[in-house]
Amino acid sequence: MRIASYNLRVNSPVLNADLHCHSIVSDGTLAPEALAARAKANGVELWALTDHDEVGGQQRARDAALTLGLPYLTGTEISVSFAGTTVHIIGLGFDADDTALCAGLAATRGGREQRARDMAAGLAKVGIAGAYEGALQYVSNPELISRTHFARHLVESGVCADTYAVFKRFLTEGKPGYVPHRWARLGDAVRWISEAGGAAVIAHPGRYKFTATEEYALFSEFIAHGGRGVEVVTGSHTSAEYLKYADMAREFDLLASRGSDFHSPNESRVDLGALPWLPGTLSPVWEAIEARVQRP
Ligand code: AMP
Ligand code: MN
Ligand code: MN
Ligand code: MN
Repeated sequence: MRIASYNLRVNSPVLNADLHCHSIVSDGTLAPEALAARAKANGVELWALTDHDEVGGQQRARDAALTLGLPYLTGTEISVSFAGTTVHIIGLGFDADDTALCAGLAATRGGREQRARDMAAGLAKVGIAGAYEGALQYVSNPELISRTHFARHLVESGVCADTYAVFKRFLTEGKPGYVPHRWARLGDAVRWISEAGGAAVIAHPGRYKFTATEEYALFSEFIAHGGRGVEVVTGSHTSAEYLKYADMAREFDLLASRGSDFHSPNESRVDLGALPWLPGTLSPVWEAIEARVQRP
């Protein structure tokens, strides 16, 4: 049987949407304009820049995308603390000037500098001096110093061979450069996004080390707060996780999202737009928020 064609290209289940990546405004290495050009060159048909806890790159990203004829959704990735774990919530299609959202993001960014100093103190105890200053060399946005910047510094200074090794040896829970941190609350992050007109999406659920019960609680509470979607196809999922979270999307009646989580040509496994299609049996988040898509 032939499936009836869609009126709008954006409604195609095989739309090359990439709704998750990072620029120099957070922990990526490319400027918003360079990401827009790379997305376009890679065949992306709908794009969102989702810097961590920041919307400072949104106007540049949107202007560059629209100039290239690339439809754009506003984006961010909010750091949240849930059940003792850091969870990331993607916001899509919101008003980037929304006062409450901007204040919430600023508060979420607020603890990063002290955390970075504490991380450096932990690293100094195991003989790595000057890591704060070293990490700062890779930071473009002074409010957004992240573990990724420490990782780049420790690779460039020869301590580890790659960023993966840095995280494993130094920057994950229980390791010398890891500092527990209190991020935003789940309900707040979802509300900031929703009340600014956007859709909240659980980022890369396969990355969290939750028990089945904790994961169920995350999905249930996220929905109770007004969350709309889940990333099914992302650069951080295995093929088994595509299937698992496609099932979870159906079970919880969530919209499905797709995004590479691209950070850097040298570090990222998955390039912009270079992902498997979203399974056609799911409801893509971009269809539900089509009115929020900005077009050339
Ligand atoms: P932060 O927000 O400072 O805790 O930094 C989190 C960022 O570190 C994530 O968004 C990833 O870009 C990066 N990251 C986290 N875990 C790893 C890992 N195991 N290997 C490489 N990068 C990672
Ligand atoms: Mn990151
Ligand atoms: Mn993330
Ligand atoms: Mn990300």
